Amino acid sequence: MNPSVSSGIARRASVPVVVGRITVGGSAPVVVQSMTNTDTADVAATARQVAELARAGSELVRVTVNTHEAAAAVPHIRERLDMMGVSVPLIGDFHYNGHQLLEREPACGRALAKYRINPGNVGFGKKKDTQFAAIIDSALRNDKPVRIGANWGSLDQAMLAALMDDNHARAEPWDAARVAREALIRSALDSAARAEELGLARDHIILSCKVSGVQELIAVYRDLAARCDYALHLGLTEAGMGSKGIVASSAALAVLLQEGIGDTIRISLTPEPGESRTREVIVAQELLQTMGLRAFTPLVTACPGCGRTTSTLFQQIAKTVQDHVRAKMPEWRIKYDGVENLTLAVMGCVVNGPGESRHADIGISLPGTGEAPAAPVFIDGEKALTLRGEHIAEEFVTLVEDYVARRYAQRQ
Ligand code: SF4
Repeated sequence: MNPSVSSGIARRASVPVVVGRITVGGSAPVVVQSMTNTDTADVAATARQVAELARAGSELVRVTVNTHEAAAAVPHIRERLDMMGVSVPLIGDFHYNGHQLLEREPACGRALAKYRINPGNVGFGKKKDTQFAAIIDSALRNDKPVRIGANWGSLDQAMLAALMDDNHARAEPWDAARVAREALIRSALDSAARAEELGLARDHIILSCKVSGVQELIAVYRDLAARCDYALHLGLTEAGMGSKGIVASSAALAVLLQEGIGDTIRISLTPEPGESRTREVIVAQELLQTMGLRAFTPLVTACPGCGRTTSTLFQQIAKTVQDHVRAKMPEWRIKYDGVENLTLAVMGCVVNGPGESRHADIGISLPGTGEAPAAPVFIDGEKALTLRGEHIAEEFVTLVEDYVARRYAQRQ
């Protein structure tokens, strides 16, 4: 019953940039990206993790390129991914020695779909301009876009010192945080202007200015967005682990996305020990989907449970259903148009169960404490049948499968 949600958010106008087969900016949907944490020199491990991230839905994947071994491995990673049928564009993350690596390993520069450089550490003193120019030259020769990504943790100290001096001369000096924000933004904008002077077109430049504080990030990006039309990469750097990282990233990015700011996002989560790296991709997708900006996978509405239901049955069924649809999506995406907009509900008792289930395309209201052991199923807003007994979860999943096959047109 739920119509596919439309956010109604007016996106900031930005110059579109093509990264491999993916467009970032312009009228393109906000792109989800992620980054590996393997040693890039380990071709097999890196290709495996890139494939895992891509299959989870990452539309761009960044890899560290920090040594000659890593740079030499990049073309082999690309080949291995192509052989696996994984076409996700690769982005190379360069710091300090990018100019040398791109020069000495030209196949690396060709295999990458985009280069990421940090104006705070591309070079120091007199070498900065020549090393920056060498990277831009490599991008020009290979026709690759570049993300100029300034970062709070590696702020251009020369720029900061100059702005501090200017600030002292102001009649009403800014506070230190504002000067630092300005240094971050100016570092990105000045580097972009320099890249354009060197011949890199505007449609080959993406900017980012990452900080680790929520309010700082919002302030920086509002300012940056107002001062340029470059496509913007959005992310809270060093967001942290677990719920803290998810909450901080979502809080910051949601405010900016709601204002139409941001063309591609990365959620920089620190994985828990043993946790899959794909968590950051799922969080990014769920953020965009719950805001109505994109749809990736049917989402299950489930109540939190309370004293009206002592069983954990609805929690188990909600998890079973969510896991099932996520596992089926690679197949469903090919077979069924629009299935990502499907809405489901698994509810714990009669209080909100029937109402919430009616709002979903297909929903089930489980019996709370003291209710008759029956679970009405609602399809397209109407009560369709009642499930009873030991196998409610399996039977509901079968009903979901039947609904999907019936409702969504079979692709030829
Ligand atoms: S639907 Fe029922 S069980 Fe679920 S939170 Fe509401 S009152 Fe509690």
